Amino acid sequence: MEHDSVIFDIIGREHERQQRGIELIASENFVSEQVMQAMGSCLTNKYAEGYPGHRYYGGCQVVDEAENVAIERICRLFGAEYANVQPHSGAQANMAVFMAVMKPGDKFMGLNLAHGGHLSHGSPVNFSGLVYKQCEYNVTRDTNLVDYDMMEEVAQRERPKLIVGGASAYSREWDYARMRAIADSVGAILMIDMAHPAGLIAAGLLNNPLRYAHIVTSTTHKTLRGPRGGIILMGKDFDNPWGITTKKGELRKMSSLLNSAVFPGVQGGPLEHVIAAKAVAFGEALQPSFTEYAKQVKANAQAMAQALLDKGYKIASGGTDNHCILLDLRGKYPELTGKVAEAALVAADITVNKNMVPFDDRSAFQTSGIRLGTPAITTRGAKEPLMGEIVEMIDTVLAHPEDERVISSVREKVNRLMAGYPMFAW
Ligand SMILES: *Cc1c(COP(=O)(O)O)cnc(C)c1O
Repeated sequence: MEHDSVIFDIIGREHERQQRGIELIASENFVSEQVMQAMGSCLTNKYAEGYPGHRYYGGCQVVDEAENVAIERICRLFGAEYANVQPHSGAQANMAVFMAVMKPGDKFMGLNLAHGGHLSHGSPVNFSGLVYKQCEYNVTRDTNLVDYDMMEEVAQRERPKLIVGGASAYSREWDYARMRAIADSVGAILMIDMAHPAGLIAAGLLNNPLRYAHIVTSTTHKTLRGPRGGIILMGKDFDNPWGITTKKGELRKMSSLLNSAVFPGVQGGPLEHVIAAKAVAFGEALQPSFTEYAKQVKANAQAMAQALLDKGYKIASGGTDNHCILLDLRGKYPELTGKVAEAALVAADITVNKNMVPFDDRSAFQTSGIRLGTPAITTRGAKEPLMGEIVEMIDTVLAHPEDERVISSVREKVNRLMAGYPMFAW
């Protein structure tokens, strides 16, 4: 076939868009050249249903090695005893855990979606809310921190089989020890979804949920800076017999139930090219330079939060412990919606997403907040001083969100600035 100029032109334009803009979407990052090469390799040609050493197809001896390297590296990175590196995405990893530990109609508990929880933690339009019953805990109105007293009270009353921690828009540390105590008190399984802060946890900058949770899930493409995908991990509980018996009457181990839930439960063949790219990214995350990167992500988030506070903005929970900031526009611009703010900033090549804030009085389509994150801009080499400049530009746009002249002058400045930052500086 001839060169597919239709698609490669589109890819070229997306590359330019990424190069010229300031990327502040908290769930995005830029992968290294090696991660990209592994993803674009001939491993995509291979079917490998099953697990290393136990496949349903011949010719898997080489991809088995790649998958084993990925498993060994991710276990080393987080101190895990068990890893499944096959989930195609974070939501898929969660789906597999739900399937392994619950039956349709069973009840679980997760963070209120309007308070930072993820779709796969019980949204009525997601499998988690369609197949299972959800009960929820909130953040408190005054501190915007997770309300552990409410979590305990709801757990006692509702007796969920599974308690889910982790969020998509929550910038504070979690009390995993308290959550495990609550789970144990009602005989529930504790699952922590560390999709967002995984990279900071790997670098030792936040508590490691593997030490407390029965099961941990994550994406690999957010702060962990790998290819788009999911993982499931376990620490000491991996060998625990589950209350489900085999045909021979033996209790099944958690690890065996999770493996069966991923394949054949919710997926077919694994993406071995992506698994190889995960292995590359995990190898990168084991290097001292990744720890330096993660420290800079956190330092940049703190510098950005401070600059916003100095300009009179309100931040949900008052600041951040991780890579993410939830800006509550009701503080400085009560009339401005997240939807309008997002559109104005995107027009200035500063990419953010609108987000509900806790106790928002607007809908999920309008919102009163925007979510900002530093993982991607930090990969490009940004340090603290740039955070002040970025906040200055954000403030200029938000003060005049409908003024084309203001927006285009900020956009020119953004493009000039980003020409000096390579896509991957670390
Ligand atoms: C991003 C995210 C996911 C889902 O990841 P996908 O790869 O998009 O399916 C799951 N849980 C949380 C908490 C997330 O933030």
